Amino acid sequence: MKTRNKIACSAERLGLLDPQMIQSVADGNAFHIGRQYLTENRVRIVDADDAQISSAVIGNSGLYEQTIRLRDGHLISKCSCTLPEEPMCRHCIAVLLEYHRLATPRDTQKSKAAKAAPALPNPERSREPNAPSRQPSAPDITLSDIMLFIEWLGPTMQAIEQGTEIPESPSLGSGDLSTWMTTIKTLESRRREHEKLLAHLQAEMRDREAYLGRLSQQLQASIAETKSAQAMSQSLRREVAGHKETLRQLTELTNKVIRSEGEIRSATRELLTNATHLDTLTTSFQELCTLLKSTAKPSLPKPSSD
Ligand SMILES: [Zn+2]
Repeated sequence: MKTRNKIACSAERLGLLDPQMIQSVADGNAFHIGRQYLTENRVRIVDADDAQISSAVIGNSGLYEQTIRLRDGHLISKCSCTLPEEPMCRHCIAVLLEYHRLATPRDTQKSKAAKAAPALPNPERSREPNAPSRQPSAPDITLSDIMLFIEWLGPTMQAIEQGTEIPESPSLGSGDLSTWMTTIKTLESRRREHEKLLAHLQAEMRDREAYLGRLSQQLQASIAETKSAQAMSQSLRREVAGHKETLRQLTELTNKVIRSEGEIRSATRELLTNATHLDTLTTSFQELCTLLKSTAKPSLPKPSSD
C-alpha cells in the first residue's frame, strides 16, 4: 500500500515551501528524520518543476519513490513507503527540504547570516527569475567531482571484495554522486550486518548440533542401561523361578516327612501293644511253669539216702 496525502497549501510554487513552513505542518518526529535524511544525502530528485517533484529516498529499509504535486491550492504527496506519518511521511519531507535547498540561490546559501536565521520567512529569495526550473540537481555534477568519485570507487570496490573497511568518501558538491556513495556505503554496511548475522546463526547452529550430539549420546547410554537392566531382570526372574521350584520340592518333602511321622507313630503304638501282649504271655507262661513244677514234685522218686 502506498501513502497518499493531501494538505491545503497557499504557496504558488513548490520552491516557496521553506523548512519552517514544512515544519509547521509536518509531524515533529517525521520532520526530524526527514532533515536527517537530507544531511545524510539520501535524497535524489529525479525530475522537478514548480508544480511537481519526482524523487527517490534511501530509507532505512530500502529505496522509496515519491511524487509531490502542487495543484488547486493543495499539496499532494505520494510515497511508496507504508509509514502512517501524517500529513506527510519523512521521505516527502526530506524531498521538500532538498528541493528548497536546491531552489535557493547559491549566494543566499553561502551566506552564514541567512543560515543562522532560518526562522525568517523569505519566499522572495527562493528562486532567481531566470533560474533553471527542471532537474535542479543536474548542474551540480562537475568533472572534478566525477574524477573524485571514480578515484574513490576503485579502492572502495577492492575493499568490498576483500571485506575490509571502505575508504573515507571525499566531500563532493554533487548531490547525485553523494547519494550514490551513500547508497554504496549503506549496501556494504547492510551486507556486513547480514554476514555478522549469518556468522551468529551458524555459531548457534553449531551449538545446537553439539547439544543434539550430547543428547544422542545420553540417549544411547540410557538405551544401554535399559538393556542391561532388562538382562538383569530376566536373570532375576530365572532365579525366582528356581527358588519357587526348590520351595515346591521342599513342601513335598515336608509332606512326606509328616506322613512318615504318622506311620512311625502307628508302628510304635502297635509295637507297644505287642509288647504288652508279650508281657501278659510271659506272665502266663511263668505261672504255667510254676504250676507245672508244683505238680511234678510229689511224683518224683525220693533221692536215695544210702
Ligand atoms: Zn515515505
